[in-house]
Amino acid sequence: MDFSSFGRKFTTPTGILQLMDDLGAALAADAEMIMLGGGNPAAIPGIQTALRQRMYEMLLDEESFERMVGNYAPPQGDKTFRLALARLLSQTYGWQIGPENIALTNGSQTAFFYLFNLLAGDFRDGQKRRVLLPIAPEYIGYNDVGLSEDLFIAQKPDIDYLDDLLFKYRVDFGSLRVGDDIGAICVSRPTNPTGNVLTDEEIAHLSQLAQAHNIPLIIDNAYGAPFPSIIYSEVQPVWDEHIILCLSLSKLGMPGVRTGIVVAREEVIRAITALNAVLSLAPGNSGAALASAWVQSGEIIRLSREIIRPFYQSKAQQAVAWVREAMAGIPCRVHQPEGAFFLWLWFPSLPISSAELYERLKRRHVIIVPGHYFFPGLVEDWRHRFECLRMNYAGNEDAVRRGIAIIAEEVGRAYSQ
Ligand code: PLP
Repeated sequence: MDFSSFGRKFTTPTGILQLMDDLGAALAADAEMIMLGGGNPAAIPGIQTALRQRMYEMLLDEESFERMVGNYAPPQGDKTFRLALARLLSQTYGWQIGPENIALTNGSQTAFFYLFNLLAGDFRDGQKRRVLLPIAPEYIGYNDVGLSEDLFIAQKPDIDYLDDLLFKYRVDFGSLRVGDDIGAICVSRPTNPTGNVLTDEEIAHLSQLAQAHNIPLIIDNAYGAPFPSIIYSEVQPVWDEHIILCLSLSKLGMPGVRTGIVVAREEVIRAITALNAVLSLAPGNSGAALASAWVQSGEIIRLSREIIRPFYQSKAQQAVAWVREAMAGIPCRVHQPEGAFFLWLWFPSLPISSAELYERLKRRHVIIVPGHYFFPGLVEDWRHRFECLRMNYAGNEDAVRRGIAIIAEEVGRAYSQ
């Protein structure tokens, strides 16, 4: 068999694939690693107990257990869950949606693979379309999903310098151009890696641009409201006929069940449904089965607001305090943490690249994600991308604190070398 006919992308790992290989190898090594690199949510006792309780209830109720393991879901995803979620979203936000506007996928990562390749790439009329990422840095997981090359085009942000060494990225609307080659606009809100939350004004502006160009605005709401609500500023969730809203059960504490949710107009949902059928016959049942009762009762919103959000918010405040303490005298800036569970640290004029910093930290048994992976589609030369790193603050507090201290030591050494 001639393996050289396999796609280059999947045989010669680049970007995230290379990083995942490397992280796997580092973790498999004998030494104990301080893992600040991955995207795992925290083990929150109140959520773990509630999930286990739901599982017991299902095991005791033969019918729901048998249905979960013994049947394929429809390719659009479990109907009971979609009905309950449509009702919850309509009642909470007044959106005009029904179960026909919702499809489930095996994780929202799968939904992004579908959506980006549906809306961009090489079209039959010979045209090439791209996904516009209006604000870089953006989620690492978009990097390699394009079936054709150069699927993304991204733009540098404006930077607001805030007090206490914080900063915040903003969409640079002055330079933003939506050409005829743009098939969709996409933003994660809250943003992975920065913890930024685009303001209501920024979202309204992007929505209006998308509508004016007759293309969808994809909002990646993996951390947002109404669940898991890992969002510390009061902003308004939005949906409209030209908006594709992607949600996920992962950051609620269920990344293992792989449940992504797409809320969109019917023709988009039909395409997602067809792709589910072709690629996996049906999305998995377990996430919908576990979460259905919570969606029906609205409990999912209570758990998110009363348990998940305060848990991460206090972790964020604590992590920023530790960074301030450890980085005293080092020119370190922190992106204002407004959501998700990462700190994005910026070391202006860092004499070494973020890749070299990653290697040095790995030797000290600390794993972070170097910043340059988070700029899919940015063609401009921008030193900033090599001056940042992302660290997950959701894990064990002692490990996070020790990890921050070691990062400070290595960065301090790099500045003074
Ligand atoms: N979008 C963002 C911004 C994420 O951070 C992640 C996971 O880390 C995903 C999407 C994919 O999540 P999942 O496929 O688990 O739903």
